Amino acid sequence: MTRRLTPGRLVVATHNRGKLEEIAALFEPHGISAVGAAELDLPEPAETEDSFVGNARIKAHAAAQETGLPALADDSGIEIEALGGAPGVHTADWAETETGRDFVLAMTRAWDALEALGAPEPRRATFCCTLVIAWPDGHDEVFEGRMPGRIVWPMRGDQGHGYDPIFQPDGYDITFGQMDRWEKNRISHRARAFSELVARCLD
Ligand code: IMP
Repeated sequence: MTRRLTPGRLVVATHNRGKLEEIAALFEPHGISAVGAAELDLPEPAETEDSFVGNARIKAHAAAQETGLPALADDSGIEIEALGGAPGVHTADWAETETGRDFVLAMTRAWDALEALGAPEPRRATFCCTLVIAWPDGHDEVFEGRMPGRIVWPMRGDQGHGYDPIFQPDGYDITFGQMDRWEKNRISHRARAFSELVARCLD
């Protein structure tokens, strides 16, 4: 049976302020106050697994062990079918440069790889988000959300982040990059994973 979250503090294993605020707002109505990893000075463990769930588990369990509190971590990325699921867990790595992350470079790499293969249209892809809540006694719960769609070119839109300008979700003729934030947050892979978490652990 799914373990439920009880009112109190929850560590969010992220150093990203935007992610923390988004997650804190979701938990607040349930009497749960989200505290960020940065506020608690937690180290960022290496993500050494080859799956989203493996990496989310590493982050959630490390934070729960360090703090003695339940901890939530997320891991996400995009899987492109014709590339055998790449970049997948390496989604952020494809943007890495000596001077920081460059997502135009990452999107160009993805498109060039599809062109080099002569991949047929539509170029199917799925955004994936895995959330893990870990407790200090070693128990965990996993929640997954997926958003299917296709890779399009050229890049369109300046909303959102990451690979949004080349991802057109099924049922839409605009990219995530052209979609307003409210709409994207209502339908995205992350929203789907969160609604599963709310249904199973909070409601
Ligand atoms: P993480 O923060 O280590 O999980 O890295 C996930 C990476 O996947 C991010 O750096 C983004 O590049 C990409 N990503 C995840 N979700 C989205 C999204 O909603 N839009 C665009 N890119 C995303």
